[in-house]
This record gives sequence, C-alpha cells and structure tokens, in this order.
Amino acid sequence: MLLRKLIISAFGLTVLILGGHSFYSHRHLKEAVVLGPGVTDVVKLGDYFDGIAGSINDCNLYILDSGNPGATILILGGSHPEEPASRLAAWLFVENGLMTEGRMIVALSANRSASTVTRLSGAYPSDFTILTKWGGRKFRMGDRWSSPLDQWPDPEVYIHSPSGQELAYVDIRNFNRCWPGRANGTITERACFAFMEMIRKEKVDLVIDLHEAELQYPVISTIVAHERGEELATFVSMMLPDMEGFNMGMEFSPKALHGLSHREIGDFSDAVSLLFEAPEPFLDATRGRTTREQLLTGIDEFVVKAGKAGLLFEKIDEKGWHIDVRIGRHTSAILQTMESWTEIMPDRPLSCEGVPRYAEVIENSTGHYLHNPATSSKVLYE
Ligand SMILES: [Zn+2]
Repeated sequence: MLLRKLIISAFGLTVLILGGHSFYSHRHLKEAVVLGPGVTDVVKLGDYFDGIAGSINDCNLYILDSGNPGATILILGGSHPEEPASRLAAWLFVENGLMTEGRMIVALSANRSASTVTRLSGAYPSDFTILTKWGGRKFRMGDRWSSPLDQWPDPEVYIHSPSGQELAYVDIRNFNRCWPGRANGTITERACFAFMEMIRKEKVDLVIDLHEAELQYPVISTIVAHERGEELATFVSMMLPDMEGFNMGMEFSPKALHGLSHREIGDFSDAVSLLFEAPEPFLDATRGRTTREQLLTGIDEFVVKAGKAGLLFEKIDEKGWHIDVRIGRHTSAILQTMESWTEIMPDRPLSCEGVPRYAEVIENSTGHYLHNPATSSKVLYE
C-alpha cells in the first residue's frame, strides 16, 4: 500500500518537474533581435508611462529615424503573439529597414505577457525555429491573451473602459480588446494606455496593427480601417493586386465595437489606425495535430476539408499558407501603405528601404532576412 502511494507520488512529482521546466523555459526563452542599419534608438514602453515600467509588458520600442522630415508610423507586432507572422514581419523591419523619409517605431512584443504562454490545454508548441543559412532562430509561440501568471483572476464580465460595453470575460486579458487602456487598470489595460501615451507624445501619424486569423473567421485577408484611414486603406487595397500580386480587402472599423486598435487609437489620438489580417490555418478549430511544422507550413488537410464543405472565408489547398507567404503579405502591405500615404500626403512622406516584399520573402525565405546574432555587435533580446 505504502509502495503504491510512493510510486504514484513519484510519478506525480516527475510530471510536475517536467511540466514546470517546460513552462519556465518557455516564459524565459530569449529571442534575439539583431539591430539593423536603420535602428537609431531603442527605448522602453515604460519610458512613456510609469505604470508599466519594469513589468513583463515593458516592451522594447525600436526607432528607425531617417533624420529627414516626414510622418511617424508605428508598427505593432505581437498584439496577439499566437499569430507569429505578425511578430516576424515587424522583425524584418527592425533587422533590415532603413527609413529614408520620416520615422518608424516598431514593437515586436506589444503584449509581451501573452508571448510567454500558449493557450492553456491547447497543446500548442511552446516555440518554433526559423531556419537560416547560418543556423536557426528560435521564437516563442504565444497566446491571444496575457498570461494568467501576470493577470488573474478574470471577472465574471469584462466591462470595457471608457465605453462601458460588456465584453467576454476572458477578453480582459486580450490586448486588442483593451484599447485605449486605463492608467490604473490591469496589466493589459495599462499596456494599451502606455501605447496611447506614446502615440500622443511622439505624435504618431499612422498605426498599423499586425494580425493573423483563422480561415473560419470572417475578418481575414483584409485591412480594417478607422474612418480617418478610409481613403488610405482603399488606395492600398486597390494597389496590392497589381503591385504585389495578392489581394487584401478593406472594411470599416465598426463604431459600436469597442476595445479594438482600429477603433480606439483613431478615436483617442490624432493617429490614423489600420489593422491587417493574414490567414493562419494553425488557429482553425478544425485543424489536425498542432505541430511546429504546421505552424510554419500552414498545411492542414482538415482545414482543406472544411474549405470543401464551404466553412471558410479564405481559400486553402494542399499547399497551405506558408509563414513566408503570410509574412510577405504583411511586409508588402506595410510598404504599400507608406507609398500610398506619401502619395496622399506628399508634405509628410514615409519611405523605407531594405525590407523584402511579398515575392522576395517567398523566393528567399524569411530566414534569409534574419541575421546571425553571433556575428553581430548590436543584439537585443525580446
Ligand atoms: Zn489577432
């Protein structure tokens, strides 16, 4: 009897240690960022709001200042860290971009807490590796919501501030349901508030919030635009098929839906706010095994089946949606947005060189544009 209890206890302890080790190493995995030729400064989000300084969500902000007059654009990567192409597209700007007109500010881990955990009981891989000529670069796979280790417990109902709208309780940890944030709120609300402070203080003109969506979600392969970004988004959506070879629709940010970046950043600052969505089959509920390979290739026979049954809002075949395709869509859409912005507002230009576009990312792969931290002198960690 005693022996049986001892064996069961030993088994439990082993599971606890192995599980704990896995959670710990995920939360503390350091992702390298090799500062590219265009990075002129790196500051912290907490520099703009004490209430976030020193916390898990005090993320790095990479500044690429051309030194020439122009507008200021903010790229938000990692609003939802379970959408890896949104972070990696922003990464390619930091490691390769050189602004020649205006200024760019980039966040790679906008909700850093959510990048340290995956969906609880979702059996997601905790990390993935992008292969390069010199080896691999490892990244954390994240979640849609901030980690419960950083924000807990959730309320019965989440009442969004300041609209008073009732949202799903779990979305109190959703960075893209907490805009414009609250100075004395939860860590997720404080992160949004800190970004709003930064946007106002740095006089950001244009914000692009990068995302990926499951194919069963109707808001996909599109630009969601605040009403002040309507002309710009229409222009970009029109240019992309001819200039870049892929389609992205355009839709309006609903006025009555609160907490989202495309609504609140536009309402609570002078910035124009846009949100980009790319397709990610890895997030679909009908997917098969949730593996690292599936995350990178975007190949899934069960999602293809769902497509044949008419359940999807985007097409998919056996070639899937490779992460290079998803990242290339984002880099091209950002570059096209800067070009269209400059055509509409030539007195406040935005221009960036060195960042690969859709066709280049697909041809050379994402790894080609990630540089070796071992041979670089300017390396930071996310
Ligand atoms: Zn998202």
